[in-house]
This record gives sequence, C-alpha cells and structure tokens, in this order.
Amino acid sequence: MVRTAKNPWRGVISEFRDFLPEVKEDSIVTLQEGNTPLLKSINITSMLGKGVTLLFKYEGLNPTASFKDRGMTMAVSKAREDGSKAIICASTGNTSASATAYAARAGMKAYVLIPKGNIALGKLSQAMMHGAKVIQIEGNFDNALAIVREIAEKYPITVVNSINPYRIEGQKTAAFEICQVLGQAPSYHFIPVGNAGNITAYWKGYKEFHKAGSISNLPRMMGFQAEGAAPIVLGHPVDEPKTVASAIRIGNPANWEDALKARDESDGLIDMVSDKEIIEAYRLLAINEGIFCEPASAASMAGVLKISKEGFFKEGDTIVCTLTGHGLKDPDTAIETSEKPITVKPRTEDVIKLLEI
Ligand SMILES: *Cc1c(COP(=O)(O)O)cnc(C)c1O
Repeated sequence: MVRTAKNPWRGVISEFRDFLPEVKEDSIVTLQEGNTPLLKSINITSMLGKGVTLLFKYEGLNPTASFKDRGMTMAVSKAREDGSKAIICASTGNTSASATAYAARAGMKAYVLIPKGNIALGKLSQAMMHGAKVIQIEGNFDNALAIVREIAEKYPITVVNSINPYRIEGQKTAAFEICQVLGQAPSYHFIPVGNAGNITAYWKGYKEFHKAGSISNLPRMMGFQAEGAAPIVLGHPVDEPKTVASAIRIGNPANWEDALKARDESDGLIDMVSDKEIIEAYRLLAINEGIFCEPASAASMAGVLKISKEGFFKEGDTIVCTLTGHGLKDPDTAIETSEKPITVKPRTEDVIKLLEI
C-alpha cells in the first residue's frame, strides 16, 4: 500500500487489528511504532556461505529506539481502556524509555524501577526526560521486577513488563512485518534473549500468520543469551548476571517456559555468546553494514556468526536477525570499543599526514 499524508502508517494496533486483542479507538495510545526496515546485509552475508540471504529487522528505528514500543502501545492502550491511572515497570533501560514515552502521551503517571548505575546513558536520559518517577534500586533487574510484581498485587497500578500479556501481543507484529516483506517466514530467526518476551512474541506471531494462511512455512527460532547471563542455557537462574549487553543482563527470565516452547516447537535453539563475540558483532555491523545497534542487539548477529562457523547454513537459507535497539542508547560502550579520535594542531599538513591517500 502506498503511504501518503492522507494514508499514513498508523501504528501496530491499527495496522494489525485483526490479529490483536480489541482496543477501543479512543483508547489507542500510539507513536506510530512499527514499520521498521528489513535491511538486506551487503557485506556480512558473504561470510555465511554461498546463496545465503541475511536480513536485519532494525528495531532501533522505532519511536523510542527499541522494539519495546510495539508492546508498549498495546499495554498502555489497554491500561487506559481499563481506566488505569498509572503504570509501573522494572527495566534494564528500554522498557522504561518506552513506558515513560507512552505514559506521557496517554497522560498517565509512570513509575520505573531501574538497577542503580547499570543502565545505559541514553535510556536513562529518556526515562528522566518524559517526566516519570525514576527509582533506582541498589540491586539488579531481577530484584526490581520482584518488587514491581509485589506492588502490583496490592495496588491499583498496571505493570507493563512483559509479564503483561498485551506486551507480547504487540511485539508479535514484528513477525508479521517480516512475513509481509518476504512473502513467507525466513528459514531462521535469530534474536537476543533477556527476559524472553520477544522470542515468545515472534514465535506467536509466526504461528498466527501461518494459521491464517498468510505464510506456508515457519522459521526455526534461534535465541542467544550473553554468557554471563545465560540462565536458560545453563538450566538455572543466575544470581548476579554479568554482561556488557545491559538489555539482556537478566538472571531469571519472566518468560522462561515460553522461550523453551518457542525453541522446541520450532526445532530451534537457545545458546549463548561471549561479551567478546557480542562486541565483535556490534562493531562488524557498524563498520561493514552501516548499522549502529546497541550491544544486546548484536547478540543475534554474534549468534549467526558462531553458528555459521560450524558450517550450519546452506544455499537458499534466509536468515533474519532482530536488531532490538539503537546504538545511540549506549554511547559509552560505543566510545569505549571504537578507535579514538586523533588530535592535531589546526594545520592542513598535519591533517594530510593522517589521510591514507
Ligand atoms: C528488552 C531488550 C532485549 C531483550 O528482550 P526480551 O524480550 O527481554 O528477551 C534485547 N535487546 C534490547 C535492546 C532490549 O531492549
């Protein structure tokens, strides 16, 4: 469909109404999220073998720069429809960035609990900027989520973490968009796994599109955790999760069981990658494809590279990698891991010496 001023993209609730729980028109809270690019890899694809197609679902181009907006539009719209006046969430950063933006738009109060000193600068600035009450917990994400669950049991306030089923509903729309572009599901879908809401959502989306006859195949779901925060891979919670990829620094995922289901039903896998592999993939995407994603996002790319070393892919395979959030979210990691700027006197000859010409 051609998009014009009279016919704009309306956000995921209006665009995928047939596949989502009903929301009253005047309750919809949207920032016209979704409709993100499915970018074809130009340079990395050749590292994967002949006849393999690699594509990136660049979710960093959502309104608050992560995929969280897809679920947040549903969760906040439903909260508004139900007459809720306030929302609350625990967050490694992006959920709070998204929740506070949608709450601002809805005229609702927002409370966000974040692990003190452990969220990326861009995300913290977003949460602060939208006028929410930002509460730093002297603990990790899992501690924060436990407090949120307890408060929600006792007080009239809506939790917008991915334990809120509407979050998953909204997030599954990314799978629909991929299928609409490809005309089918990819052979493999690679995705970072933190709280495991997104892998659950994509799998639900693919299955529903399949059932509706919109696609005739299903992808194998390939989830990747960070080595220092890999409870699902290890088979037990991790008390003190550690990784440079703060968005997946989660030791006890809320959607653990559903992630296992997505893996098993799709004949996929959930594996882990090291911080070194994550940073390599993060830099590779920026330097070889012009795509700046945040470190956690690159876990999916790191997963593709890890698997491909084992001679995994074959001719004709289509691989989609979800890049969950924008690189500007975490400027510190970008600056730490990149070549430093060179300082010279304001003299042309000094600059010329530095050019490789
Ligand atoms: C939330 C988030 C994840 C993890 O998604 P889950 O649904 O918690 O598994 C990964 N990357 C980014 C950028 C995120 O914001």
